[in-house]
Amino acid sequence: MSAVSLTLDVPEPAAERVEDLLWDAGATGLEIRDREAPPMPGVRGPAPGEAIVVAWFDERASAEAALIDVREWVPAVRGAFEDAPDTDWSTAWRARIRSTRVGRLWVGPPWESAPEGVVALTIEPKMAFGTGDHPTTALCLAAVEAFCTAHPGASVLDVGTGSGVLALMARKLGAGRVVGVDNDPMSVTLAEENAALNGISGVELSGASLEAVEGRFDLVLANILANTLVELAPALVGHARGRLVLAGVLIHQEDEVREAFERAGAVSDGGARIGDWIRLDFRVA
Ligand code: SAH
Repeated sequence: MSAVSLTLDVPEPAAERVEDLLWDAGATGLEIRDREAPPMPGVRGPAPGEAIVVAWFDERASAEAALIDVREWVPAVRGAFEDAPDTDWSTAWRARIRSTRVGRLWVGPPWESAPEGVVALTIEPKMAFGTGDHPTTALCLAAVEAFCTAHPGASVLDVGTGSGVLALMARKLGAGRVVGVDNDPMSVTLAEENAALNGISGVELSGASLEAVEGRFDLVLANILANTLVELAPALVGHARGRLVLAGVLIHQEDEVREAFERAGAVSDGGARIGDWIRLDFRVA
C-alpha cells in the first residue's frame, strides 16, 4: 500500500474545521503545526497567522477528494501532495532527530551515544520543545555553558523549560538551585522524565507562574517568543540578580525586546546569533 500525504497551509482560525474535514475524508493520520504545536526542528513551520496541517491517506484519490472538500470551506488553502514511501511511521520521525554539540555540551536522543569527553544530556524527543538542535536552544546552551562554567554553584531559573534541556544542563554543569517552569503541563511532565532519564535530581520543575517563584537567580534564562518575553519583562528582570539571557527572538524583533528589558531595568550586554535567531544578554544588578 503506498500512502500519500497532503500538506495544507491554512489560515489559523480555519485549522480546526480543516482537521474535521480531513478526518471525515478518510485521513489515516494528521499532524498540526501551529503556534501551540511548533514544528520539530528542521521541519517547515507555518507562516504568521497560518497553520500547517499534514494529512496521510491510503490512496492518492482520497487525498485529492479531501483537498476538494477543504477548498469548498477554505478557498484560500494551499495544498501539496507527496508520495509517502511505505514506512514504519511509528519510528520514521526518529530519522529527523539529531544530536547537537555546543562547545563541550552534547544533547541527543536516547538511541544515540555521546562521544568521549563531552557533558552529555539525553532528551527523549516527545511533545515538548527542546531537543537541542533548534537554533534558539543552541544559543541558550552556549550561554549556559559559559555562565555555569565560570560560576560553579550558581542559581539558575529557566522560564519556559520545555523538555527541561537548559535547566538540566545547568545542573549537570554544577549549578546550585535550579528551577524550571513552564505553563504547559505536558512539558513539565516530560522535563521530569528527562531529569529521571539522566539521573539528575534536585531540579525544581513545575507549572508555577513566574510570580509564584520565590527568590532571585544568578542566571535567568527565557527561550520563549518575543511577544511573551516583552510581556514577562518586569517579572523576568525581577527574578534576576546577575545575568539574564533571552532567546526565541528574530532579528527584526531585537530592538523591541531590548527596549522592553531596558525599561524594566536590565542593562544590555551583548548576545549571539544563528541564522535569523538572536540571543540577547543583559546584566541585572
Ligand atoms: N527552554 C527550552 C524550551 C523552549 S520552548 C529550550 O530552550 O529549548 C518555549 C517554552 O515556553 C514552551 O515549552 C512553552 O510551553 C513555554 N511557555 C510559553 N509561554 C510561557 C509562559 N508565559 N510562561 C511559562 N512558559 C511559557
